[in-house]
Amino acid sequence: MKALFAMKVLFVSPEVFPLIKTGGLADVSGSLPSALTHLGVDIRILVPGYPSVLHQLLELKSVATITGLPMIDAPVQLLQGIIKETQVKVIVIKAASLYERAGSPYIDAQGIDWPDNPIRFSVLSKVAAILSSDKSPLINWLPDIVHCNDWQTGLTPAYMKLTENSTASSILSLHNMAFQGIFSAEWATKLGLPSEHFRVDGFEYYDQLSFLKAGIFYADSLSTVSRSYALEIQTEEFGFGLEGLLAERGEEIHGILNGIEMDEWNPASDPYLIKKYSATRIAGKKEVKKALQKELGLNNDANAPLLGIVSRLTYQKGLDLLLPNIQRLIDEGCQFALLGSGESSLEAAFSIFSHDNPGKMSVTIGYNEPLSHQIMAGCDMFIMPSRFEPCGLNQMYGLAYGTLPIVNATGGLADSVIDTGVATLKNKTANGFVMAEASSGALLAVIKRALDIYREDPKGWRKIQRNGMLQNLSWDHSAQEYLDLYTKTIETRKI
Ligand code: ADP
Repeated sequence: MKALFAMKVLFVSPEVFPLIKTGGLADVSGSLPSALTHLGVDIRILVPGYPSVLHQLLELKSVATITGLPMIDAPVQLLQGIIKETQVKVIVIKAASLYERAGSPYIDAQGIDWPDNPIRFSVLSKVAAILSSDKSPLINWLPDIVHCNDWQTGLTPAYMKLTENSTASSILSLHNMAFQGIFSAEWATKLGLPSEHFRVDGFEYYDQLSFLKAGIFYADSLSTVSRSYALEIQTEEFGFGLEGLLAERGEEIHGILNGIEMDEWNPASDPYLIKKYSATRIAGKKEVKKALQKELGLNNDANAPLLGIVSRLTYQKGLDLLLPNIQRLIDEGCQFALLGSGESSLEAAFSIFSHDNPGKMSVTIGYNEPLSHQIMAGCDMFIMPSRFEPCGLNQMYGLAYGTLPIVNATGGLADSVIDTGVATLKNKTANGFVMAEASSGALLAVIKRALDIYREDPKGWRKIQRNGMLQNLSWDHSAQEYLDLYTKTIETRKI
């Protein structure tokens, strides 16, 4: 039976696909609200008004004006619009001086953090808190729960409790502990946070202001994007200094694995592929591989194992572990297709291999949504040796596309990829290959193990592909888990 009154959720995120995306958080923020809508939740997303957001939303209209926000003189406008693809409602913060500029949401063209990031994301956090308070309702809609995501929204629970006296509950999802939003102490007062809470039991972190710590401390409930990561972040290796606080709240950290957006990531309907395919009609994958080889200038060789990488090129992703092995694997007949950007030393190192191995290794530096789909579909294997990975989406795209993921056993990779072995082949759970540890030796060993099956046992390979492709990777299950968590959080809210 449908509830009489739908639960109202304000979903606060610094990036939302397809409006603005730098990584997996955007994918989650695009898909989860849509899946929750299907469960009867009345949800609105709050996002900064970047140019691409303002351009893409439908039916954009002004709904309120806010004055007196810390550190900005001009009034800020709130607009409301609809995402074309999902029909989800979005509230946009229109503040030209903060958000309407070229470059990424977080860094300028030189890769340097925007110096006013504390203001830009405190405004996002503060507006969320104001919208959740019945003190001075800005719009005729008051959320029951505010769902915050990552450090950019970390001050929301603090403002809700300390300055806005909000009636709503809050939950903070931790998508990546490596980014925390730590700024010098004077920002706390500048951003309107009460100075008496600049302390260990508050938003202070080693004499600085930490957005993420504020969120972890003040949120009524916490979640992470996989069960393994929920446990890992309570240890020194993965907690990035916040493991103590997280361990204190350990019982309350819920691990919910992300789903994938099946409308976007489905080889049977993917508009970026010249040929569609599925678990039962896999032949089309060969044609996509051929087209990809042509597009990237790789040799037209149906039998050459094609290994794909789509990634931010950073220490986290562990792709440096591949560097000592690339030439050897190419010499043994492998091809590589890499798409990514990030640390210049990694970009340069991969580019040199591509230069030295024409027709065998393709490196595309940059961000390219269509090519990411084509690599995912056209390759035989997908490499993700991350040192830590809160959830990871690409390995799940790999599963859906029959492109067997080769991963390190960490976080969401450990929770979604099941290593191929005698037992897992027998019980039909094998869906990829898992490294023994994060080292280049272990990576080479696991790739060789995969290559052996690819070359010697095509039937076995197809079985593993089918196991992954037939899994239900959609948001249905995870969205229900979030809904249960919202209900529990509202019922047991900390006073
Ligand atoms: P993270 O969020 O840590 O970067 P995830 O695996 O969770 O890693 O999500 C990455 C998302 O970003 C995926 O949707 C992936 O396809 C996409 N992506 C990463 N780099 C690129 C790129 N250079 N071009 C296109 N898409 C990319």
